[in-house]
Amino acid sequence: MFQAKGYAAVDAQSPLVPFSFERRDPGPEDVQIEILYCGVCHSDLHQARNDWRNSLYPMVPGHEIVGRIVAVGGQVKKFRVGDLAGVGCMVDSCRHCSACNEDLEQYCEEGSTLTYNSRERDSKQLTFGGYSDQIVVDQRFAVKIPASLDLKAVAPLLCAGITTYSPLRHWQVGKGQKVGVIGLGGLGHMGIKFAKAFGARTVMITTSPEKGADALRLGADEVLVSKDKAAMKAHARSFDFLLNTIPNGHDLNPYAALLKRDGTMVLVGALTTLEPALAGASLIGGRRSIAGSAIGGMAETQEMIDFCAEHGIVSDVEMVSIQSVNEAYERLLKNDVKYRFVIDMESLKRTA
Ligand code: NAP
Ligand code: ZN
Ligand code: ZN
Repeated sequence: MFQAKGYAAVDAQSPLVPFSFERRDPGPEDVQIEILYCGVCHSDLHQARNDWRNSLYPMVPGHEIVGRIVAVGGQVKKFRVGDLAGVGCMVDSCRHCSACNEDLEQYCEEGSTLTYNSRERDSKQLTFGGYSDQIVVDQRFAVKIPASLDLKAVAPLLCAGITTYSPLRHWQVGKGQKVGVIGLGGLGHMGIKFAKAFGARTVMITTSPEKGADALRLGADEVLVSKDKAAMKAHARSFDFLLNTIPNGHDLNPYAALLKRDGTMVLVGALTTLEPALAGASLIGGRRSIAGSAIGGMAETQEMIDFCAEHGIVSDVEMVSIQSVNEAYERLLKNDVKYRFVIDMESLKRTA
């Protein structure tokens, strides 16, 4: 064991505070990573505040981790000391169920071990995430990061990136299709970049008209303000695919009405109950589908990083210090982020 330090939520109400804890020494298959940058995902806020009613405290959030390998176990072939590496939302899974065997560890039938707010498989030890100086992880759950990309802007790819890349790939979004990305935040801005890179006609669907110019700069072909009923009506029955990143329960009906016959809306944001109820007729009438998607498997996460390196895709970030993470949470709640906060972990050295 060695001593690590970070910031933790100690309950659902209090701000995050400096926190020291123990991490395991790297085992034969493990790598130890010195964390350089960690993105702030809306899930961190949901979990720290116990929005999903499953929070375990103390909690060190953070699952958009980029850093440098400082130690490797004896069996590690994939990495060497000095390499750059990324860690996303998972650090382990059962590795023998049908999902794990198909490189879909995020759907592990025994439950994947999350980077934080989870327990290690072989002990009752809580997992602690990336708002910290070091992390130890099995090599299967770390991805290679090419040095050609801007590292601080790579961190959000580990969650916001893969969570949008994976459904767009699974539903084969591409040329000749009209795709809507709902919600211009951390996930949404990556959704636009990927939908555009895959060749789709991309529409940003937002509640914030003032984000329109940014949406176009990020690659959207058009902006649709969801509060504008006339504009929503003009786009009715026209979308092949919708990627819905709204973080809370909301009325799906106006969005479902945007789908063409056989169109699909994939939810990635709202984990809680969606109200008011969805009218069955809106699915039946147009043979429409509503689906969900969770992050992506480790192989697909590496594929996504390599795609980003090839196409020069990274996140648009605002750097923050770990000392200002609580302020960043408040701004996230107020929808005031362009478009991902990333913590420069160097700042942690200033916390005694
Ligand atoms: P975010 O940066 O806060 O962005 C969410 C965006 O949704 C906002 O910028 C806003 O965009 C829109 N929005 C917010 N509240 C809304 C409301 N009540 N009605 C309509 N639109 C609203 O959040 P994020 O980090 O992208 O995360 C989004 C959600 O995905 C979170 O719930 C997070 O926990 C979840 N998530 C899921 C997965 C997964 O594996 N499925 C992975 C990561 C995150 P506009 O201003 O453009 O309307
Ligand atoms: Zn996340
Ligand atoms: Zn499994």
